[in-house]
Amino acid sequence: MKILENTALTYDDVLLVPQYSNVDSRRTLSTQAKLTKEITLQIPIVSANMDVVTESEMAIAMAREGGMGIIHRFLSIDEQARQIERVKKAESFMVEDPISMTTMHTVGDIKKIVAETGSGGILILDEAEKLAGIVTTRDLLFEHDDQKPITELMAKKVVTASPNISLSEAENLLHQNRIEKLPLVNSEGRVAGLVTLKDIMKITQYPKATKDSRGRLMVGAAVGVRDKEMRRVEAALQAGADCIVVDIAHGDSHLEIEMVQNIRRHFPKAQIIGGNVATADGTKRLIDAGVDAVKVGVGPGSICITRLVAGSGVPQLSAVIECVAAADSANVPVIADGGIRHPGDLAKAIAAGAQTAMIGSLLAGTDESPGMIMTRKGHKYKASRGMASREAAIDRNRKEGNDLTQEEIDEYVAEGVEAAVPYRGKAREVLTQLIGGLQSGMSYSGAHSLKEFQEQAIFVRMTGAGLRESGPHDVETLG
Ligand code: IMP
Repeated sequence: MKILENTALTYDDVLLVPQYSNVDSRRTLSTQAKLTKEITLQIPIVSANMDVVTESEMAIAMAREGGMGIIHRFLSIDEQARQIERVKKAESFMVEDPISMTTMHTVGDIKKIVAETGSGGILILDEAEKLAGIVTTRDLLFEHDDQKPITELMAKKVVTASPNISLSEAENLLHQNRIEKLPLVNSEGRVAGLVTLKDIMKITQYPKATKDSRGRLMVGAAVGVRDKEMRRVEAALQAGADCIVVDIAHGDSHLEIEMVQNIRRHFPKAQIIGGNVATADGTKRLIDAGVDAVKVGVGPGSICITRLVAGSGVPQLSAVIECVAAADSANVPVIADGGIRHPGDLAKAIAAGAQTAMIGSLLAGTDESPGMIMTRKGHKYKASRGMASREAAIDRNRKEGNDLTQEEIDEYVAEGVEAAVPYRGKAREVLTQLIGGLQSGMSYSGAHSLKEFQEQAIFVRMTGAGLRESGPHDVETLG
């Protein structure tokens, strides 16, 4: 047995000391950060791989705002892959597999497909599956003869482009020809995609969006550590996942390390995030195993009771500082996972050296998380729960067709709880507050970038009285 002499700290133990600043407008400060060695985000936030936080809707919202979502692993392999595909298809400026019909179809057939899919334009192919024409909803508007062959209605002169077209070239062609749809045709005359004005407009709406080289939103996938999970890794990467989070509560373990090594061997180019750890040695072991980012946090999560149940963990600010010191020389980014309750906590996590933070319950309360809004005593809530809670275990087994017996339920040692979190509107609103707070913290430290913030930050420890003074006090808050 040994006792470490230094006191470990967490977010509420410290404040950032204000410093001289020549920042004019905090809104313009860059919050660009590395999620992994090769993935850059415009905002340093990822949504947690929890079944109450991140499925495709949350992942789409996160990537649009410049962060990223990690789709949780408590889904079948196929369903997780489908969720990833949904994100990848959400905002590409080109649809890779546009809806098409043939010259044999009628106006009625097309109306039916348009009603079912909400598509604004249908490509018409001839018997050789080459592009013969295009029909848009505008063409159908005043056409009442459903028996009419589609060949009589479709536009036969269609402006097309090569599938390798860039976004700006596509914009030019749409503009010059005053059209809204641009089919992409390969050298054999076969349709290989469709660019629409609507999709291009969506892109300009989210200037910070996290995109892959093909212009698609980026998304991560969580996997477990058992051998059979290699199938999940393969399916996730095939569906387009941009990084893999090897998800286990105690990441400084042979199971985690072997899984990371296994993924690295089979998929040398995959971006792998390993975790969770809370020590320098644990960080080094993951880096040696081949990870591209280290996720730090044992016990800080809002729904976590690991520290109560197992007596194990490290207060989060100290864990981050220690792990960053170990990861820095290898240039591996650290993700501070869990325990972010206020924007100021995010600022402290980043100032402590984390490149990004993973957030669970704060985002579980938003529209984009799975699950319904509930009302209690006139207030709106959504559900959050630990992935190691009894309720999550029961649900997981039920989904796999394996109902737990009462005895198994009684024997389950939970390290997470089930909870209600206040409803917080759109994820964008939560992210705006978090990033605004981070930028404000940067400005108080006189920093223009996250790198400067980390170099310049000075923490001061405070007492319980300092903490009480830090929140609203001696007033009755309204609302
Ligand atoms: P939050 O942002 O404070 O809600 O923390 C979210 C983090 O808590 C997740 O990203 C996980 O690392 C962690 N977590 C999720 N479920 C559990 C659990 O059941 N026990 C312990 N930690 C958990």
